[in-house]
Amino acid sequence: MATTLPTRNILGVTIHALSQRQVLDYLAETALKQGRQQVVATANAEMVMLAKEDAAFGALLAAADLVVPDGAGVVWAARHQGNPVPERVPGVDLTQALLAYASKNGKKVFFFGAAPGVAEEAARRACKRFPGLVVAGTRDGYFSAADSPRIVAMINESGADLLFVALGVPKQEQWIQANRAALAPRVVMGVGGTLDVMAGRVKRAPVWMQRTSLEWLYRLLCQPSRFIRMLALPRFAMAVLFDKKR
Ligand code: UDP
Repeated sequence: MATTLPTRNILGVTIHALSQRQVLDYLAETALKQGRQQVVATANAEMVMLAKEDAAFGALLAAADLVVPDGAGVVWAARHQGNPVPERVPGVDLTQALLAYASKNGKKVFFFGAAPGVAEEAARRACKRFPGLVVAGTRDGYFSAADSPRIVAMINESGADLLFVALGVPKQEQWIQANRAALAPRVVMGVGGTLDVMAGRVKRAPVWMQRTSLEWLYRLLCQPSRFIRMLALPRFAMAVLFDKKR
């Protein structure tokens, strides 16, 4: 695949317009075959609004090698601009696709993040789901800044090829960019609440809600504490509709 990937600009944030299959092929080739480290971010409407309002977070997103359209809002915005993306690429699904690839191709993975015990449970379930998968290590996501060098060393010594970082937004993007040069894994991806879903601690929306772009509503109903964060969604929609630059 050519190195210039198709992109869309959503309110100043560059999103890569690739299907999940294309993302997987690209990462397999560049990161896992050629050994060029690829940092992957998953963008949703909340993150685009955060990037718009906080230049430091915008720079963190821009520094990622791949930004996939994780949220229905981002997919809608691209379509509204007349330049659709091939499909929604939810981080949780891309993670499963990468785990399937890793299990078939002898690549090791590391799960870093979430509450104590969650990464281990996610690993146990992933090994059942993907026979042959090697989880080289796990580490919970509660630590102080002084622990970071030790965590990086632990990840590197594990021999992991793919690292999934589940610290939530924006902590995971900050941690990844601060440590990427020191990290040995070739794929480093921020995955938010994915380990909670994989461990069975958080339920994913029913498929019909995913298909009808209502996953955000399901998350709001299950976790009402997300209400304030989700006020970004109508602001995102207004900003896209009234985007004067377009
Ligand atoms: N988390 C963590 N360390 C922290 C803060 C959060 O490991 O200091 C974890 C938290 O336990 C949860 C994930 O990060 O597993 C955030 O999940 P959420 O669904 O909120 O992700 P987001 O929507 O921010 O991507």
